Amino acid sequence: MFRLLITARSFGISDPNVFNELEKIKEISYIKPDHINAFNEAEMIDLSKNVNGIIVGTDKITKSVIENAKDLQIILKHGVGVDNIDISSATNAEIIVSNMPGINDISVAEMTFAFILSFSRGIIEFFQNAQRGKWSKYITHDVYGKTLGVIGTGRIGREVINRAIAFGMNILAYDLIRNEEIEKKPNVHYSSMNDLLENSDIITLHVPLTETTKGLIGLNEIEKMKDSVFLVNTSRPSIVDEKAVMNAVRKGKLRGVAIDVLEKLPPDYEYLDMGSKLIITPHVAAYTYETLGLMDIRIVKAIKEFIFEGMPTSVNILNKSV
Ligand code: NAD
Repeated sequence: MFRLLITARSFGISDPNVFNELEKIKEISYIKPDHINAFNEAEMIDLSKNVNGIIVGTDKITKSVIENAKDLQIILKHGVGVDNIDISSATNAEIIVSNMPGINDISVAEMTFAFILSFSRGIIEFFQNAQRGKWSKYITHDVYGKTLGVIGTGRIGREVINRAIAFGMNILAYDLIRNEEIEKKPNVHYSSMNDLLENSDIITLHVPLTETTKGLIGLNEIEKMKDSVFLVNTSRPSIVDEKAVMNAVRKGKLRGVAIDVLEKLPPDYEYLDMGSKLIITPHVAAYTYETLGLMDIRIVKAIKEFIFEGMPTSVNILNKSV
């Protein structure tokens, strides 16, 4: 019997039928504990002791978790970002780690644009006023003709750029690796990080959390930005110094900030007094029926492939040497 632990809170929520699909595989038994926040290391050590596979969300799979999970053979990320998984320890322990790059790029790009448009046109503030019976009008901004700084031009960054082109924006792009196809697109220019910071009206982040991206946007970078920039972070917490950003919004240096990936839910600081200058969502940029449904199908297929054929092909294997 293959014992499966499902800690990804996003698994099965778009279509619970996926559990029926799992139950049809008589070689599998599974558990899916209920939880609101991601499991920490100690909780994961306890949960993963006797399991063969884990479908994981943002729960911590550290070296200690791996060392204690003696029967573990495969870790399947229900998503893309794998900064919560110690891949090198998994590789040493001959445990396969997989993710699904590209599966949620449209959803995250659409969410990024929803943030940009709703902030630029004051939609949240107008509606909050309306709820209080206030119908006063004030003037907002077009995004047309504005400069969008895109940090990270991988799968999600590219989709954000496509949408920005359609809206008539100018795009300043920054990445460690320039993408020639993106570079040829109208109104897109790769620049240095400093140029991007100094010349963008709106800045959005689409890099993974790594040693080099940790703290990528802090006090120094905010100081370099034009006054009144709107900053969007749908990538990962820690890439942006949340405290520095909130202070900059309070002081009026930043016009506003939208964050899908907070350090902690709920946040430690007072955020309600920031009104419509702050848009926060509980890590839901990829939470669409379309994306989550597709992830579920691919993961169940990958588990079947792993059990019956040895190597899953419907997910991306991150440590092929195993
Ligand atoms: P990707 O790997 O396709 O693209 C990432 C890009 O960042 C690459 O082009 C890479 O060269 C670049 N990069 C890496 N380090 C850099 C650095 N130090 N400076 C500049 N550029 C750097 O990844 P993607 O699919 O576009 O996803 C990006 C990130 O978005 C993921 O790693 C994940 O953390 C996050 N994400 C969040 C959600 C959500 O629900 N909010 C969903 C999916 C992905």
